[in-house]
Amino acid sequence: MKTITSIEEMKKWSRLALSNNKSIGFVATMGCLHEGHLSLIKTSTEECDNTVVSIFVNQTQFSPEEDFDSYPRNIKSDKLILQTAGVDIMFNPNQKDFYPEEFQSFVTVEKKTNYLCGVSRPRFFRGVTTVILKLFNIIKPNTAYFGEKDWQQLQVVRTMVRDLNMDVSIVGKPIVRDKDGLAMSSRNLNLSKSERRTALKLTQALEIVQTLVTKGESSAVNIRAKIQETIEKKQGAKIDYISVCDPENFKEQTEIHSRVLVALAVRIGTTRLIDNRIIEKN
Ligand code: AMP
Repeated sequence: MKTITSIEEMKKWSRLALSNNKSIGFVATMGCLHEGHLSLIKTSTEECDNTVVSIFVNQTQFSPEEDFDSYPRNIKSDKLILQTAGVDIMFNPNQKDFYPEEFQSFVTVEKKTNYLCGVSRPRFFRGVTTVILKLFNIIKPNTAYFGEKDWQQLQVVRTMVRDLNMDVSIVGKPIVRDKDGLAMSSRNLNLSKSERRTALKLTQALEIVQTLVTKGESSAVNIRAKIQETIEKKQGAKIDYISVCDPENFKEQTEIHSRVLVALAVRIGTTRLIDNRIIEKN
């Protein structure tokens, strides 16, 4: 595996691969890799001739009061993980090259970013779409793989690609969970033991919702109340949002007719966690 830090070198490598008719699969990450990232990487190595993984903690998606500085980083172990996974290129640009002083161009997806995480993190999606667009321009992937753990982000990226006629296929992959059910996240490393037990309430709440809907519950109000009750049973969990919404446009639902997204964001201590589940009503 080759490590590339220079944007120009990354561009050259990609253009050469494409001119040799080799397909490029791409996984964008902020590092501190876990099995969730690896499921995307594995699919890419199976489906594409080459796989590029970026490790870049993207400053523009964090607001000043958020956890950019304390976001976990471990480039040495990431490198070993990527080598073992059969990745061709680890792309690890530095912030100053990526966002030089005069940087002033952003891309924004409008409606879909006004809901869920977009409410409490107003800069987040603008930062995400900008970094992804830049990475796509540099790497020119044929296919890019994203996790359904960040369901809204996946839909926002799909929307940008569609609206801006970008030549890349977007593939979404299911949430990978730890043995105890907690959705894997680099941020889980910042949880203490007791915070981790509190975090499991997110998983439990989503499982309870699935059971309730299977048994016939269709009121979104009742479902939100049940989630709130489950999570607030544990001290130290502060709910950011509980949403029962349309999985594509994120409009809140009052009744569950067919398919809804149940999405949660909860602060546990200083760590903000998200999780979601698609619920289908028969
Ligand atoms: P991150 O490093 O957190 O920015 O995530 C990079 C990519 O990995 C995104 O597409 C995430 O949705 C995906 N990802 C992160 N955690 C998981 C998980 N537990 N299961 C599946 N995909 C994940």
